[in-house]
Order: sequence, then C-alpha cells, then structure tokens
Amino acid sequence: MFKILIKNISAKEILDSRGNPTLEVSLWTENFCGVAAVPSGASTGKYEAAELRDGDKNRFNGLGVKKAIQNIEKIIAPKLNGMSVFDQVKIDNLMKKMDGTKNKSRLGGNAMLGVSLAVARAAAASKNQPLYKYLGNFFNVKPQMPRLYMNLINGGKHANNDLAFQEYHIVPETNDMEKALEFGTAVFRELKKAVIKKYGKLSANIGDEGGLVPDITDAEEPLKILWSIVKMSNVKCYLALDVAANSFYEKGKYIINNKKLKTEDLLNLYKNLIKRYPMVSIEDPFHEEDFDNFARLREFADKFKVKIVGDDLTVTNPERIKQAIKKGSISGIIIKPNQIGTLTEVIEAIKISQKNNITCIVSHRSGETNDDFISDLAVASGAFGIKAGAPIRGERVAKYNRLWEINRGLK
Ligand code: PEP
Ligand code: MG
Repeated sequence: MFKILIKNISAKEILDSRGNPTLEVSLWTENFCGVAAVPSGASTGKYEAAELRDGDKNRFNGLGVKKAIQNIEKIIAPKLNGMSVFDQVKIDNLMKKMDGTKNKSRLGGNAMLGVSLAVARAAAASKNQPLYKYLGNFFNVKPQMPRLYMNLINGGKHANNDLAFQEYHIVPETNDMEKALEFGTAVFRELKKAVIKKYGKLSANIGDEGGLVPDITDAEEPLKILWSIVKMSNVKCYLALDVAANSFYEKGKYIINNKKLKTEDLLNLYKNLIKRYPMVSIEDPFHEEDFDNFARLREFADKFKVKIVGDDLTVTNPERIKQAIKKGSISGIIIKPNQIGTLTEVIEAIKISQKNNITCIVSHRSGETNDDFISDLAVASGAFGIKAGAPIRGERVAKYNRLWEINRGLK
C-alpha cells in the first residue's frame, strides 16, 4: 500500500461540555490534517486508562492538560513523525510500548487517544473516504446505522437531583435516523410537559447529557413516565437503563432514596422492572467488581431478551471483557474509546465482543466535545446501538447530526 507520512503532531487545550479543559490533537501529513478531541467521564471505572491532568490548583482547578500536550509534542510526535498514517496498529502499539504502564499513566490515556484518533482521521482524509468507510476496513461487518439510546432523564453523577440511577433511555426500534430523531425529539417535548405538570418548572432543567433532572427520588418513576408517553405512539420503542451502580455503592450496600439496599434487594428490583417495562438493556446494575451478580441477573434477563451491559465493569478493556464473558456476566457492552486509550484496542474490544455474541453499544462520555468520531465508529463496526445523550446540547447533537449525514450517504 502507498504511504502517507506523518509530518507533525500538535495539541492544544479546549473546553469540554462541563467547562473543563481537554485535548484537541492535530496530526499533519504533507496534504492533510486529522483532528480529534478527547472526552471525559464523571462516573469513571477504576480500571479505565488514566487521564493525565496537571494537578496545578492555580489553573482550571488542577484539570489542565498541559503535561499531556507536552507528552504529545515532545515524546510521541518525534517517534511518530515519518510513519505512515495507514499503520494504525503499528503506531498504537508503539505508543503503548513508549508508555510502558498498565493503565497508560505515563503518557496519559487522553494524550494517546487524541493521537490515535487523529491518525485515523488523517488516514481517511488521505484516501478521500468518509471516516466510517475507512474504519470499515478494520471490521468484517456491513456498516449499519445503530439504534439510538437517547438519555432523556439524568440522575446519579450527571445531575443535581437525588435520583440514584444515572440514565433513563428511550430506544426506538428503527435504524432510520430521521424517524428515530423525530420520534426522540417528540418524546422529549412531551416529557418536558409531563414533568413540569407533576414536579414543577425546575424539573425541566437539564443534566450533563441533556436529559431532564426532575426532583424524583424513586428509581422506577422515570420509567413509568417515559413509558406512559412512549406507549401512546405507534413507533415501537424500548426503554433502557444505565444504573451506574458503582456511584451509589457504599460499604457493601446500595444507597437508593435514602435506603440501604442489599445486593439481593437490588436484584429483585431489576427483575420486577424487567417484568413490568419493555426494557432492551440494563447497564452496570451492580458495582464494578461484581462479575457474579451481573451473571445472576443476566441469566434471568436472557429469558426476556434483555441485555445486561458492562461499562465500568469492562471499561473497553479486552482483558476485562474476556473475564466478563468467561463468567457469563454480560450480554452487552459499552464501547468508550477513552476508557482504553488507543483505536487498535477499541477495535479489538469490539471484535472480541462480537465474536462472542455480545451486543455492542458505542458511547459518548458525560463530558463531551463536538468531536463526532463515535458516530462513524458505531456505523463502521455495525454496532447495535449508540449512546449520545438527549437530542439537545451541541456536543450531543453533533453525534446525532453526523449519523443523520452518514445515513443520507448510506441510502
Ligand atoms: C456512562 O456511565 O455510561 C457515561 C456515559 O457516563 P460517564 O461518561 O460519566 O462515565
Ligand atoms: Mg455507563
């Protein structure tokens, strides 16, 4: 294959959707430039790739990423300059070797991911291909529009309410982007009216992912409200949860609505929700080390065709994914590029999952930028779903608008 060589790599700080600094990387060849920005989570898993932050309390509350920029420009760039942008695997492996740690804490997972994604963008541009087409070369599947997981009610670490569960999604059963988006925005409008009527004006304020933040404490109530709206339409639509249980797990108990629940109580709560609502998936139902209770719930949920999804449990890490598969803990998985730090490992994580019949859902982070790489990745990998938040807020609609655009090209 012909070669297009890397000439220069630079990086700068930009703000993410929470107003914290993050990285934007520009990677230059003779004629092209690939640009990629790195998102940031709030309910992060213990085993995620490390996010390198400056820790200087006098600047951006310690969250500056100047050290990561230094690593890109002074350590990574000199080694990568002269390599071909088509050597994605070689480049990612070299960065891993240069970093030399298990969790990418030396160079920073954020630094490495920014470079890795920018390489792919420059490669796609060099071939004059849309990104999803170029990424398609790494997978043996037909590109496909993912189902939209639209997070319409926010709780947990993404909201200033007392709702323990983090995300309440609607998932229309259609791969027609326009239909899904139109439906999602209509449900969101109705939801706003319904929560204002029942919980007052302030309940229509929004959280980190654009969903409403009603003053609700009961974990089931948001599902009730969403279902009451969705069932009135003639569009087939499921509901989904990201519990992010790790964020309310304390000393062996789960704190929900001021009550301390035992694992067994929580398991029974999920069983009842599965029986009562048209759920398509439940993400992170237990804390990030509890492979066994994930497996118990999965066994029950299988009978209802409901997927039990790993996120903090698996952190897009091929080793953790293999462990979860071996233990029967998951039937679905969240794919977040910044949890692992290189595109090559993201692709490996997706391939291992697909080979084992694990449903893939590509996901944004709660702290996002306008970068829409995940939309192309979801299509290229034939992922079942994509989590991109509510269909409002610039950094969320960037992903939806990109999918809409790809949809036009695929038709
Ligand atoms: C999630 O938990 O799936 C999520 C998107 O949130 P965060 O980015 O805060 O981990
Ligand atoms: Mg999650």
